[in-house]
Amino acid sequence: MQAPISGPVLLRTVAELRALTDAMRASGSKVGLVPTMGALHDGHRSLMLEARRHANRVIVTIFVNPTQFGPDEDLDKYPAQLDKDLELCAGAGVEAVFAPERSEMYPPGDRTRVRVSGLTEHLCGASRPSHFEGVTTIVAKLLIATGPCVAVFGKKDFQQLRVIERMVVDLLLPVQIIPAPIVREADGLALSSRNAYLRGDERRRSLALSQGLSLAARHFAAGERRVFALEQLVRDSFEQAGVVEDYVALADVETLQPLQATDEVQGSALLALAGFVGSTRLIDNMVLGEDGDPLSGKGEGAS
Ligand code: AMP
Repeated sequence: MQAPISGPVLLRTVAELRALTDAMRASGSKVGLVPTMGALHDGHRSLMLEARRHANRVIVTIFVNPTQFGPDEDLDKYPAQLDKDLELCAGAGVEAVFAPERSEMYPPGDRTRVRVSGLTEHLCGASRPSHFEGVTTIVAKLLIATGPCVAVFGKKDFQQLRVIERMVVDLLLPVQIIPAPIVREADGLALSSRNAYLRGDERRRSLALSQGLSLAARHFAAGERRVFALEQLVRDSFEQAGVVEDYVALADVETLQPLQATDEVQGSALLALAGFVGSTRLIDNMVLGEDGDPLSGKGEGAS
């Protein structure tokens, strides 16, 4: 284990992670885990603070997981900034950062994958067919290596959260999953490591995602329940900003099954969307009927 002068201990191997978490539990501590791909921002920081509310010892994992990227995606250019990440972790009271090499998580000859069916075929799974299998495989490895803990995941990746909740139940993992709310920039854009890719007017155009959600939220609050009408509000927002739709979908909050265009929302529904701003794919979501307007109190979109 290599300890920086101050701040979190940097762990590179599963054996080090196991030794530390075993020792924490043996001393009566509760372990909190925050899995990430690094390039940390205030969204990740809020997960760390949430973990500290549920556990007295917090560990962050930083691993850009190759199996969740498609062949034409941004694996090779995904931002890496370990020193800056360690600083952010130090400021959030994180005790250790587990940042393994690829070969540590995928040993030579690796043949095993974890797949959750039913929750992974729609929404992001439709355009990223092997993505969730990569996510569940790496998260299962991280949770097994960590052992009994609470693990915090952001609602920013709402489908991922539901898939992991299911996986933890099905694999009988001794882990409590804690969901954390989406953190946004002052103008409403959901924080994402991929926002760093936005160039020129793309940053401004990226507001079409949160503004589309906000528009739908306001119409929902005013009584609109028709699925096609609510989805169309987001599509209009995309079109005006030149954002190319990947998907815009209302879906069941628990099962993630998309609602039909001819349906009406009963109670609450997940409004999930993904769009390309230039070559950058961004996602966002909210639960209509549960979450407030994502732009309320923010910038020009506030009503
Ligand atoms: P990533 O590093 O993008 O794989 O994300 C690691 C964790 O941070 C996941 O649980 C994400 O859902 C969460 N996360 C990323 N962005 C945000 C955000 N803006 N607000 C809340 N959680 C986030």
